[in-house]
Parts: sequence; structure tokens; C-alpha cells
Amino acid sequence: MILILFGPPAAGKGTQAARLKEAHKVAHLSTGDMLRAAIAQGTEVGKRAKAIMDKGELVPDDIVVGIIGDRIKEPDCRNGFILDGFPRTVNQARALDDLLKGRKLAVDVVVVIEVDEAALIKRVENRANEARAKGQPVRPDDDPETFKKRLAVYRAETAPVLPYYDAQGKTRRVDGMKSIDEVTAQIEAVLKAVKPRKGWFG
Ligand code: ADP
Repeated sequence: MILILFGPPAAGKGTQAARLKEAHKVAHLSTGDMLRAAIAQGTEVGKRAKAIMDKGELVPDDIVVGIIGDRIKEPDCRNGFILDGFPRTVNQARALDDLLKGRKLAVDVVVVIEVDEAALIKRVENRANEARAKGQPVRPDDDPETFKKRLAVYRAETAPVLPYYDAQGKTRRVDGMKSIDEVTAQIEAVLKAVKPRKGWFG
């Protein structure tokens, strides 16, 4: 099963992906996490990405497509994988289809986690306050103005990916305003209803 978790920033994709990974023993591929790891390691990619990410803008397609193209060749992706934060542009979605076609694979389902913008802004404020209270660093792109920029980028560049997958009949929407457990339950129901290509996710 190749599953895309789709939704605006702070919709809860990472939280849900971690749960699905644990429950179904599949790989979790988060481009945001991979880019942050590259920054921490000081790689060339990390150097190119840092300033862009800190501003809340999108890293160039060739960088993230390259990262994903390498990652899906790893053995832990053989049983399927969850994409979180990728694709974020229509160009990335097309590149993903090409990458998968080359391996005789295809996206099975795109789970869209819907959360309204006011709730997202509140969540990020809370996330930053909690980090501060614990004396932990706040993600530079969780600063309120930068977060609003990320929402604007989502609307302009990422939301257009939805019609791309709608046209393939692959999108399924879940209500991301519900509790974490209820969102997980909705996603599991979607996965049961989708006929997995090779039976992954049971
Ligand atoms: P969130 O889940 O809160 O939206 P992420 O960790 O997924 O945050 O992404 C953080 C930042 O990393 C993005 O704002 C963007 O700069 C960069 N990034 C992550 N994935 C991609 C992608 N597929 N294309 C371009 N930039 C990306």
C-alpha cells in the first residue's frame, strides 16, 4: 500500500503517520523530517533548504523529488509506505507518479485530513507555547507570521494537488477537527475500504 497523508501544515499528518507506521509496520517518509535531518547534519541539501524552510516557503521540487526517489529504494519501503508532506506541488505529484511507474507501483490512496485555518493557527500557537514552557526550541517556521505564510503557500501551491488525485479517484477525506483517536479510526476505515494492491494494511 502506498498511502499519501495530505493536508495543511499542522493538520496532524505526522501524528497519524507515526500511528499507522506502528500499527501496520510500514515505512513513514516525511520530507519535512528528512530535510530537518539534512540541516542538522549540515549536508549540501540541508544548506540549500534551511533559509527557504525558515521563511515558510517550499524547497525546490528537484531536491525533494531526489530525496524521495532515493528513499523509496530502501528495503523498508518494500512493504509499502506512507508519504507525509510530499507531494506538495502538482509537479511533485507528477514526478512521484513517474518514479513509481518505473518500479511498477502506483499511489493507492490519498487521505486528506481536513482542518480549518483558525484551528491550525491555534494549534501552532499551542505547540510553540508548550515548547517554550518546557524550555525546548520553537521551530522557526512555527512563528505566527511564518506559519501564516505556510498556510498561504499551501493554498496556492499544495491545494491544487487535490484535483490531480481527485481525477484519479484516489482521494478520501477525513475530519481532522476530531480527536487524534477519532482521526485514526477514520483513516483505518478508509484503508479497510480501499482494496490494497497487495493486501498491505491487512
Ligand atoms: P508541517 O507538517 O508542519 O507542514 P513539514 O515538516 O512537513 O511541516 O514541512 C516543513 C517545511 O519543509 C515546509 O514548510 C517546506 O519548507 C519544507 N518541505 C517539506 N516537504 C516539502 C516538499 N514536499 N516540497 C517542498 N518543501 C517541503
